[in-house]
Amino acid sequence: MAGLYIHIPFCKQKCTYCDFASFPKEIGKAESYFACLYREIEGRSKQYPDTVVDTIYIGGGTPSVVEAKFIAGAIRQVKKCFTVKKDAEITIEINPGTVNAEKIKEYKSVGINRFSIGLQTGWDEQLKRLNRVHTAKDFLLCANMLKGENISADILLGLHNQTAEEVKKTVDLALAGGVKHISMYALTPEVGTPIYTDYLNGELLSDDEVADIYDEIRAYLLEKGLYRYEVSNFAVKGFESRHNYNYWERGEYIGVGVSASSFIDGRRFTNTFKIDEYMNAVIYNKNPEISSDQIEGADAEFEYIMLGLRTIKGISIAKYNKLFSADFDKKYADVLNKKSRFLVRDGDNLKIKDEYLYVQNDIILDFMK
Ligand code: SF4
Repeated sequence: MAGLYIHIPFCKQKCTYCDFASFPKEIGKAESYFACLYREIEGRSKQYPDTVVDTIYIGGGTPSVVEAKFIAGAIRQVKKCFTVKKDAEITIEINPGTVNAEKIKEYKSVGINRFSIGLQTGWDEQLKRLNRVHTAKDFLLCANMLKGENISADILLGLHNQTAEEVKKTVDLALAGGVKHISMYALTPEVGTPIYTDYLNGELLSDDEVADIYDEIRAYLLEKGLYRYEVSNFAVKGFESRHNYNYWERGEYIGVGVSASSFIDGRRFTNTFKIDEYMNAVIYNKNPEISSDQIEGADAEFEYIMLGLRTIKGISIAKYNKLFSADFDKKYADVLNKKSRFLVRDGDNLKIKDEYLYVQNDIILDFMK
């Protein structure tokens, strides 16, 4: 069973914090890009013919900015080339202000059954400062068009002078829109993005301030019926993202399109970040990958631990011992002892205690041998 990721590298405009492979000026190349994408999907299906696809995730960029017929074509191509499970979870990322009823109808007609809306904040001044294309009202209009569907929303922490009360209001707005899943990430000011200057000028919240807001919002979300199942992800029971869970369980996935990564047969590889380079490679039957690594030995073991400990389920010790022909308790006796304050054993599973999950990086690093 595998996940399939499709990258759409187009947006209306660039957000001030964005470091993703998205190119607003290249949107005129959408039609040619999709032709290449369909071709790569076919090529990957021949390369990995036994793959059974359990989840599909169309991300970006802003997939909803292009004509819906291209998205529908990509899904049809996946279904034609791969074996896709009947109950597959099929998600599309959408931005308010870039969808309409016709687009949504077309998405649903090809089986898209989960909608991840980039809300980020419910405050128009903050949205404007981030150079987002939408307002809070646009979010509600968008959510209203998706009434009754499985909807997720992304929320950002750490914005200029942001308070916990403001984030609570953002959560309220998301819930008013019928959202059953929230991904809440701390803003990372990447070098080269406009917001990095604000970070250097000390205009963004400190890590400690963000951690305090995170704790308050985690409690608030729980009050509202959304439990945390991974450090940045919260859901009403039954609405967890299957696609993301596959990543955290170190399951296999195939990524197609610019900058997409894959992990299959123990190999992790990533496509070029440049649209023209990607299209040229696909057209001339060349390899669009720019990196490829066989992940084995200590690296594979650490990945299994690192990804699993991000979730509230933690890692299965029996599975670890079987996968790596090892004795976890013996191998990590010193770490388990040193970090016992932060860890908890729940039957076969080892987990990070609830109150320390947000600072899991420091704990996890000790498992690196
Ligand atoms: S919508 Fe997303 S991908 Fe597009 S510019 Fe903004 S942050 Fe980047």
